This record gives sequence, C-alpha cells and structure tokens, in this order.
Amino acid sequence: MKIGINSDKQTQSPSVVIVGGGLAGIAAAMRLAGRGMTVTLVETRKRLGGRATSFDDPVTGQVLDNCQHVLMGCCTNLIDLYRRLGVAQQIRWYRRLYFADGQGVIDQLEADDLPAPLHMTRSLLAFKSLAWSEKAAITRGMLAILRLGPDGRGDLFDTTFSHWLAQHGQPSSVVRKFWSVIVTSALNELPERASAAHAIQVFRDGFLASEHAYVMGLSAVPLVRLYDAARDAVTRAGGKVMLSTSADRFVFDGQRITALRLANGSELAADAFVSTVPFDRLDKLCSSSMRDADPRLTVLKRLTVSPIIGIHMWFENVAGRPLMTLPHLILTDSPLHWIFNKGHDEAVGGQHLHGVISAAHDLVDAPADQIIGVVTAEVRKALARRGGASARLLHARVIKEKRATFSVMPGIEKLRPQARGSIGNLYLAGDWCRTGWPATMEGAVRSGYEAASTAMRDMNLSSQGPIPDLPGGLVYRFCAGRRAGKRTV
Ligand SMILES: Cc1cc2nc3c(=O)[nH]c(=O)nc-3n(C[C@H](O)[C@H](O)[C@H](O)COP(=O)(O)OP(=O)(O)OC[C@H]3O[C@@H](n4cnc5c(N)ncnc54)[C@H](O)[C@@H]3O)c2cc1C
Repeated sequence: MKIGINSDKQTQSPSVVIVGGGLAGIAAAMRLAGRGMTVTLVETRKRLGGRATSFDDPVTGQVLDNCQHVLMGCCTNLIDLYRRLGVAQQIRWYRRLYFADGQGVIDQLEADDLPAPLHMTRSLLAFKSLAWSEKAAITRGMLAILRLGPDGRGDLFDTTFSHWLAQHGQPSSVVRKFWSVIVTSALNELPERASAAHAIQVFRDGFLASEHAYVMGLSAVPLVRLYDAARDAVTRAGGKVMLSTSADRFVFDGQRITALRLANGSELAADAFVSTVPFDRLDKLCSSSMRDADPRLTVLKRLTVSPIIGIHMWFENVAGRPLMTLPHLILTDSPLHWIFNKGHDEAVGGQHLHGVISAAHDLVDAPADQIIGVVTAEVRKALARRGGASARLLHARVIKEKRATFSVMPGIEKLRPQARGSIGNLYLAGDWCRTGWPATMEGAVRSGYEAASTAMRDMNLSSQGPIPDLPGGLVYRFCAGRRAGKRTV
C-alpha cells in the first residue's frame, strides 16, 4: 500500500517525512511545520523525546526520566526550541554550581560581576579542595585555551584531550579533580578517549566566552512533558505524528528517495525525507545502492558509542532531616559524577536522589547490585557531613544506556555527515551529525534545524539556519582575538 502524502503539488505545500521523534526530529518538525510544510513524523516508540525522555516506573508509580538531562546557557538552539514549544518556563536555571570532594568538602562555582573570561576566577580561587599550585595549573590551562582563539581548535580534532593536557603541563591531580570532571560529564567521554578539540570547546564556549554560558538548566517536569506542543504544531499545519510506528527502509530509485517503507509494509511518499535516527538505525534503513550513491552513508559502521548509567535512589531521612539540601552536587575524583536532589517522595517515604555516571565503560556491564553499592558509597562519602554514613537506602533503580551517545573520539569530526549529500532529497540530522557540538540535546536540535533549513532552501523557500552561539564578551574577544565573537564551531 502506498500512501501519497502530497498528491496535488500545484495546490499543496511540499511534504516531508521525518524519521525519528527525538530532539532532532522534533526540532526539524517544528521548523518545517512552522513554514507550512506537510510533515509526517514517524516514531517507533509510544512517546516523543528519544534518548531525552521519561518512563513510567511501576514500583514508585512515578514518571521518571531515563537520566537527568542538563543544559547550559550556551545551548542557544535548545532554548529556542523550548520557547517554540512553550515550555521554556519549565526550565529551572542554576547560577551556582556545587562541587563535593571525597571528604565531603563543598565548593561553589558562580559568576561574579567581572566580565568574561574573568567572571569565575574569584570563585575558582576560593576552592577549598584545590591547592594553590593546582589553581595555578588550571589558570595556565585556561590561558592556553584562550590563546588558541576562535579557530585554533581546528588542529586538535585528531588528538586526545589527555595528550593536550600533558603537553600543557597539567598535573594528574588537577586532571582528576577538575578537567576530567567537567569533560567527562559534558562530552560523555574520558579525557584519554575524547578529542581535544571538543573538550576545548566545552571550556571556551561553556566557561570563558560569556558570563551566561555556564548557567545550568534542569527541567522541572519529566522530560516527556516538554514535547506535547510538537504534536499539536505538526497537526495544526496539516501533518501528523505517527507514534508506535517503525520505519523499515527507504525506497530508492537510483536518484532520489521515493518513499519510506514502514514495518507494517505500507509506504509513505513525500518530496523530502529527514532521517534523525541514530547512525546504527540509519544503517538499517539504507540499501547497498543508497550507500553506493551517497558517501555519507558509508561511514555509519565506523562510529562508536559511549555508555551512561543513571541511578534513581530513595534514602530515608536522617534524624528527621533529608540527607541532601543542595539542589545538586558535582563529585570530583569519584566514579559517580553527579547527584541531583529530586526532593521528598511521598510514595516511597524518603528523599529521591539521582546519580549519573558518564562514560561508564568500566561499570556498564556490572550487575545492578554492584553499581548500587559503588554509587551509594559515593553518596554517603559526599554527604558525610549530613549524616550520610548512616543513611538507609530504601529503593534504587539502575538504568544502563549502553549506546547513550556517540563517542567524541579523535578523528570523529571527519566522519560526521552534513545535512545534505548526494541523494538530493535525503537530509540527515541527529546529535551525531556534523554540528561541531558533542552528543547533546543542543547538538541534536542544531542538526534538526540545519536539516530543515537546508531542505527548505532546496525547495526555494527562505529559511533561518541554526541559532548563532552566544556572542563572546568584549574582554573575551580582546583576549582571544577580535573574531572570537563570531564563532561558528
Ligand atoms: C542517559 C543519557 C544521559 C544524557 N544526558 C544528557 C545531558 O545531560 N545533556 C545533554 O545535552 N544530552 C544528554 N544526553 C544526550 C541526549 O539525550 C542526546 O544527544 C539527544 O537526545 C539525541 O537526540 P536525537 O534526536 O539526535 O536522537 P534520539 O533521541 O536517539 O532520537 C532518535 C529517535 O528515532 C527513533 N527511531 C529509531 N529507529 C527508528 C525507526 N526505525 N523508525 C522510527 N523511529 C525510530 C528512536 O526511538 C528515537 O526516538 C544524554 C543521553 C543519554 C542516553
């Protein structure tokens, strides 16, 4: 059965089929539907959101996120998407970031009134868990990043961040207590496996360029509730969102994609197709003749993945008080990277904490009990001064995402495809496509916006590309070179 989405091209707007309803698919759909295109979004799961979504937990009866998702002030495209979806007010922003070392010492990182890149110098110098020699080493590293300027990271895509840190004389204690802590969370990869260019972007764009870039955002509602407006927008524009519907393969006539075949055997015809599925899924949708025709499709087997473990924990109050009062903790020199305070949970009768282990290569195959043992020991240490040592764990749930993100290994940037390729009406998006960003919600939205605007331009429709980065501050531009305000990657 062939379903013609656009049978009368004289009177109807162009039709686009989008495969995948994660953030890249939602972003592309919002842009295309917003310009009056007839969009059909095909998503295999029951819900939108892809990897940034939630599930119903039968034990607690709650809607839980698969893992806490963090955004930053520099995520200009994701913030734009939240505004378009009407959910920007659901993001809670934190200007003060809390760090805990292995002895339970708490440090705070917060911008003051100095201009970027100096805005966090005072709070970093006040860190109790770093020796003065370690603070001096971090300052030297930051100056080296500044000196690289806006385009300097171009030469560092093929080398590891560990190598760059060693070249710049960073002692191992500083790597463990500072560089690795930030990079592993931001890139979901370890310094010894991550490309130096991507790591340097985290510090440049996230911490040095603008006073607003580092500010951390968390959704106040389960992630899945952020996406409802996408369905309405697509439907209002005459399109549809097909949930619980799997794509099987693209139908290729040797020149163009003519249809998307679904697992139920039906076909969706359209003028253009946007794939937003992860690279391994896209590989399954392609035929060998498509790979012969389009070099973008020949690299899909060469990309690798990096795991994340999310741990939901419920702790009994200690002496009538909740174990954790701070909203979050970033753990330094620990196998556990974050603890998020999710508040008191009436149903379970304790405090809900959520732990995250990024780049969890060593633990992802361990049994859940072992992971819970490691994580609760780290929680108890970090919260020792709140009576953590005696805190009783009431319930825990481990969520392993073995294929959480692509690995930002050296050499990856050359493999990441552009939105447009040799198969003219097949546009690629997804966090793994070439956005210059690591595997993040921001990268996914950027890729979706880029694919949508490329498709619109090809149809001779005017369109806005991705939202530009936050402009670099005046002092930052002076330090890093005048063109630093116009960064593109
Ligand atoms: C545990 C975890 C923690 C993370 N933490 C953060 C964080 O703190 N901050 C951050 O910015 N990013 C984080 N990320 C990364 C972020 O979630 C992703 O980068 C982003 O959501 C990717 O979006 P996407 O649209 O590119 O891909 P996806 O979300 O994977 O979307 C692809 C969609 O395609 C669908 N699909 C696949 N095959 C088919 C098919 N054959 N037919 C139809 N549909 C199909 C999938 O079901 C999915 O919904 C995290 C990821 C994980 C897994």
